[in-house]
Amino acid sequence: MALAREFLNLGEAIHGGPVESSILSRLEEIFPDHVSIPVTTKYWNIEHEEVRINNKLVKSVAMPYTSGCARGKIGREIGLYQMPPHPFAVKNLPISNHEVALFYEENKLRRITLPPGSPPSFFLDRKVEGYAEVCSSARLTDTESRNVEVKVRNGDSYIVLGAHVDHWLTGYHDNLLSVEILAEMKAVLEKIKLKHGLKIAFFSSEEGPRCCMGSSQYPMKDVFAIISLDALYPSRVVFSSTPDLWFLSRHFRIKRIEMPTPFSDHFPFVQRGIPGLVLYNDDMIGVYHSNVDLPLQEDVTYKENLKESLVKAILELDSTTEERLYKEFMRVARESGYSGDKREGSIIPDLENLTSKFRK
Ligand SMILES: [Zn+2]
Repeated sequence: MALAREFLNLGEAIHGGPVESSILSRLEEIFPDHVSIPVTTKYWNIEHEEVRINNKLVKSVAMPYTSGCARGKIGREIGLYQMPPHPFAVKNLPISNHEVALFYEENKLRRITLPPGSPPSFFLDRKVEGYAEVCSSARLTDTESRNVEVKVRNGDSYIVLGAHVDHWLTGYHDNLLSVEILAEMKAVLEKIKLKHGLKIAFFSSEEGPRCCMGSSQYPMKDVFAIISLDALYPSRVVFSSTPDLWFLSRHFRIKRIEMPTPFSDHFPFVQRGIPGLVLYNDDMIGVYHSNVDLPLQEDVTYKENLKESLVKAILELDSTTEERLYKEFMRVARESGYSGDKREGSIIPDLENLTSKFRK
């Protein structure tokens, strides 16, 4: 089942939009026993995006969530910026000094979210000079989407495996490959004996003006732990989780272990006090949110190894009690200066350092 490639062919799946919905519909068809859980979200509807340089149409995409038209000289009215080494650094550029901002990187287009109030901005796949005429018409509209949940086995409380289905531009590793991995794992997981129940959740709208609209509306009452896959890329993983799950990292080929990043679908669970893990890989910065996030030869073995690691980690997590997780969580929390006794609300985003920390 080459599901990720099938979804890749549907094109860009902007949060809350028609392609996201097509992916979810296909998953609903593959898993007839699914439950669809409604979510309210926003769709960024691009009606038009166009850049002309010296009267010639060039390849471009509009940057989220900007919109508008203007013309002028590059270097005067129009700011031109080379893509910084880290995507999150785009928000530090003085783009508000211009009527329009153009970003470029050779042979690549990207959609990187800019701060609210940014001027109309575009990404080009080459450096340009001269006169530019730009126009985009795009609107954020309120809409309905859904998370698709597939129950693998019943239980009093559940281990949830999740992955978001929406993506910018090609999005093969962020996050179609993760969707394929979870879809393929259902049959494997049905065969293993577990004490806990197990569900697979395909989330809507992880990308967006606010992170994780889909997962944050997922019912969390009976969730024992969440393992989310997001932006997996051969061949290492960043093990980004609440400290009580760090012991499970021994099952993976690890790049590093860290506190849970606030930028992915496990985080709404973490904030509610649920043990949470996301596996991702920041070695993919070069293709992040671009039109060159495409299949690699190494994906095949990487995927198989990861599935094996996941099964081992799930088995060990399943045999661990809630009490033991709580004790380990609190041990690290105390060391970090947290004085409360509740898990819920103890971990807060540390946006400056792109991570999270214990509340003091
Ligand atoms: Zn992602």
